[in-house]
Amino acid sequence: MLKYIETKVVLEEVPDEITLAINISGCPNRCPGCHSPHLWEDSGTALTEDNLMNLISKNPGITCVCLLGGDADPEYTAALFKSVKKNTDLKTCWYSGRDMDYGYEGLKYLDFIKTGPYIKEKGPLTSPVTNQRFHSVCYDSTEDTISLKDITFKFQRT
Ligand code: SF4
Repeated sequence: MLKYIETKVVLEEVPDEITLAINISGCPNRCPGCHSPHLWEDSGTALTEDNLMNLISKNPGITCVCLLGGDADPEYTAALFKSVKKNTDLKTCWYSGRDMDYGYEGLKYLDFIKTGPYIKEKGPLTSPVTNQRFHSVCYDSTEDTISLKDITFKFQRT
């Protein structure tokens, strides 16, 4: 079970989308220089499928749902994204603090995924030398194949 501590409608985290961002607690990654150490604690409200649908219904006008975190239980994040796809026509995005797992079950239910730990010298997605990657995801259910497109450049300032 994952827990969340806050939600916010944002425009920056997912390009061209109005996104309900949900901050997940209990982050196991412990990146040195972490910008959000308050997310390390296992605290907040249980993010059940019902609670997630309730949060979505309270935010009309959004086009995307993004979980910021959830590395403590990737299988559960996959179940949440599956539920969003089953019950809504919203896009989905996952901000993971780990490198890409090409076998991750949840890729089938994602439109976007951000991967990579935070490394202070390399900076976040907006940094030209960032190690983090932001991909759009396309799942072909007929072929049961997943294709990824690196669109990190959309965060880079010229
Ligand atoms: S993944 Fe994010 S929240 Fe977790 S330790 Fe790294 S920077 Fe902090």
